[in-house]
Amino acid sequence: MVIVGAGMAGARAVIALRAADYKGPITLIGEELHLPYDRPPLSKASITSEEAPAPILLLDEDQLRSLNAIFINHTKAVKLDVKAKTVALSNGQSVAYDKLLIATGAKPRRLTIPGGEHAIVLRDFPDAEVLRAKFKPGKKIAIIGGGFIGLELAASARKLGCDVTLIEAQPRILMRGVPEAIAKIVHDKHISEGVNILTGTGLARLEAQAVHLADGRVIPADTMIAGIGAAPEVSLAAEAGLKIDNGIVCDEHLRTSAPDVYAAGDCCNFPHGMFGGRRTRLETWRSATDQANTAVANMLGGSVVHHALPWFWSDQHDLTLQIAGMGDLGIKTVTRQLSPEAFIIFHITDEGRLVGASGIGPGNSIGRDVKLTEMLIAKGISPSAAQLADPNIALKSLLKG
Ligand code: FAD
Ligand code: NAP
Repeated sequence: MVIVGAGMAGARAVIALRAADYKGPITLIGEELHLPYDRPPLSKASITSEEAPAPILLLDEDQLRSLNAIFINHTKAVKLDVKAKTVALSNGQSVAYDKLLIATGAKPRRLTIPGGEHAIVLRDFPDAEVLRAKFKPGKKIAIIGGGFIGLELAASARKLGCDVTLIEAQPRILMRGVPEAIAKIVHDKHISEGVNILTGTGLARLEAQAVHLADGRVIPADTMIAGIGAAPEVSLAAEAGLKIDNGIVCDEHLRTSAPDVYAAGDCCNFPHGMFGGRRTRLETWRSATDQANTAVANMLGGSVVHHALPWFWSDQHDLTLQIAGMGDLGIKTVTRQLSPEAFIIFHITDEGRLVGASGIGPGNSIGRDVKLTEMLIAKGISPSAAQLADPNIALKSLLKG
């Protein structure tokens, strides 16, 4: 078993292989220097913690030893030969596989406007260390992109006393995947915490210490950051001739178009078993684990269809938002107000099927109800709009169907 990419999906695959009692050899190949680590802290605690942070490891040396897995770090897989079933590495080595998992993740998009190279990006631990060194009180930070990276970094920079301007080209932040009512709460929170948000604002160019907006305004900046999305890392797969379309194209078992080659995580595009085979590519922490589990089951001879429900969270200031399911398949929404500051929006199809939930509130105020909604969706239970809206009807009681 060979795994290329030692991030969340790659690390979880090693664990899942041994948990399934696979006794043969495992080789994990990772381009980064570090042992496999968790990315979500990189925009949050890795930047704001008082103590200099270390990566939060997903697998340490002892675990790798006890799992009897070979970890080849700081080494890129440079060529995949699907006929010979080998992977050539940047250190000159060649590794043969019976089954291969590609878990190469995603890479941040770069700004292509003039001067775009002045904007830095966040994807790995060294990037977070760079930002941590720059986020000093009074420093002017300009963030381009009102998505998750941009907003989480804005919250972290304000916590450290920076002067933050966030620039979003769309009419509102979190335009994709987050309902307007939730985006508004997030927007207002950032404003009350002192973030200057410019929506509907395009860019003309960047200079070393200034963002030139399309409307002629100039935003002075000590540091400019691009949080404008990520592209799936597919180069190894594409050069080997695997089918690519917004990620590595897989079937419902997470098999790629090449025999004995699977994919999981941010790089993987698959038909979702629970939503009528609708194709999707997810860039979220839990999905990377879930997909690694499905891929491993099938690498070991299973025939498991990937069914796990999409879910992710984002922490900004004292707010947490959570999104579960596939809300964009819904055409109707119903809101359950849990408290003055916390609510969940349920997404429902034309036929009345519950397909998603989007919630926001302080701390963990929405966690339990989002979890219960996931269980409702997984069981195919669609309560009435009146039941979903009424906070006096416990969602748990609806699980009986
Ligand atoms: P990755 O974790 O990116 O791992 C891929 C690995 O493959 C990388 O180490 C890469 O160097 C390596 N690699 C690539 N190509 C090669 C090659 N040819 N040879 C060898 N190695 C290679 N999700 C949430 O749900 N909630 C959050 O709050 C959240 N916060 C995040 C904060 C940040 C700053 C970032 C960047 C992501 C965050 N995410 C969050 C998303 C989540 O971390 C990702 O979805 C998850 O890491 C995907 O796992 P992966 O294994 O597919 O990819
Ligand atoms: P993202 O959430 O896709 O947001 C990118 C934002 O930038 C969007 O608002 C996008 O608008 C905007 N944008 C795109 N191109 C632009 C341009 N040329 N100029 C200005 N704005 C532009 O991606 P991200 O925030 O950069 O995050 C990158 C990766 O990290 C993703 O994989 C993400 O899942 C992951 N991440 C996740 C979390 C979390 O889940 N909590 C936290 C941090 C990071 P459009 O919608 O119009 O394209």
